[in-house]
Order: sequence, then structure tokens, then C-alpha cells
Amino acid sequence: FITGKRKATEVAHSVWRSIVQKGDTVVDATCGNGYDTLALLKMVADESGQGCVYGMDIQDSAIESTSSMLENSVNFHERKLVKLFSICHSKMEDIVPKDVPIRLVAFNLGYLPGGDKTIITESRTTEMALHAASKILRSHGLISIMVYVGHPGGREEFETVQSFASILPAETWVTCKFEMINRPAAPVLVLLYKK
Ligand code: SAM
Repeated sequence: FITGKRKATEVAHSVWRSIVQKGDTVVDATCGNGYDTLALLKMVADESGQGCVYGMDIQDSAIESTSSMLENSVNFHERKLVKLFSICHSKMEDIVPKDVPIRLVAFNLGYLPGGDKTIITESRTTEMALHAASKILRSHGLISIMVYVGHPGGREEFETVQSFASILPAETWVTCKFEMINRPAAPVLVLLYKK
């Protein structure tokens, strides 16, 4: 990251790797083409068949894309650890069982690369989803949000995420962001860690 050679998503994956353990249950709140879902699956899947990834996207085409990405990349046993839903992430509490502690909720906001650029995450539902994520997250868990500021509405969405992060109580939460100071249009990684 510091040498400018790594993509922002790779930086996010390195942070996730430092938090997520084998056997954990995690949530991918924006599956898209499935790259993050696959990375998460590799982090949680253990040899005894434990570990689970709940994945969701508002677009059926994204769920299909994620599903075929997994079929081509992992074996049947690992594939069974991923549960995919075509649903708005503001409704994540409807699909994640209440008694399951969630180690990580990952958001990669914006539009589906190679897809319809008019279908985009929006401030209102992103904020609702962040509230839901903060409720289902276990202690020593992380909410990771990759925010793109270069498209219309992106900067406003970033402000929404930042406002949400700033009001979380410091006794319970550590909140921070990675941003490139001399590349103002580069994506910003916001991290919310529950103590
Ligand atoms: N994580 C993905 C990957 O690894 O390929 C990339 C995600 S892409 C930048 C953002 C995704 O968010 C799009 O697929 C889009 O359909 C989805 N999305 C937009 N609004 C959403 C919502 N309200 N709930 C869930 N997903 C949403």
C-alpha cells in the first residue's frame, strides 16, 4: 500500500486476515463479482468444515456472478460454507441467525464493476446496514467499509459513513480510516473495530 503497488482491496484483505480466524462466521454485505466473498471463504474455512460466509447483493446478476466464481474456485465442501442472498444489506439481520457471533462485516460500496453503473449503494441504506452490522457484530469483530468517492454520490456516502463512525462510543469502538492524502479521488478504507 505504502509503495502504491497494492490495490486498496488487497489492503482491506490484509486487515481482515489479522482479525478473522478459521471457523469464524463473517458477512460480505456487497458480493458483486465474488472476489471478497472468495477471500473471506479462504480465511474462515477450516478442515473440519467449520466457518461460514453470509453473502448478499441487491442484484441477482451479482449473486449469480459470485456463485459461478465460487464454483470455479473452490471445492464442493468449501462452497457449502457460503450462503448467498439476493437482498438489500440493510436487511442483513433477517438472514443472519441471532445466536451466531459475527467476526467481520465487509462492505465494498459503489457499483458492480462491469455491470450497471446506475445500481449503486446509497447513503440511506448504507447507514441502515451499518446500524444492523454494528448490532450483529461480536466483540473483537470488525466492520470494514471500502468507500469510493470519485463517482456522483460517493462523497456524500463517505460523509454518511464517517458520521456513523464518529458517533460510535470510544469505550466500545475503535474507528479509523486509511486514505491517500495526495490522491483525493482514491477509495477510502474505513474500519470500525468493536472492543
Ligand atoms: N465485493 C465485490 C467484489 O469483490 O467483486 C464488489 C462490490 S461492488 C463495488 C458493489 C456492489 O454493491 C454491487 O454489486 C451492487 O449491486 C451492490 N449493492 C448496491 N446496493 C446494495 C444494497 N443496498 N445492498 C446490497 N448490495 C448492494
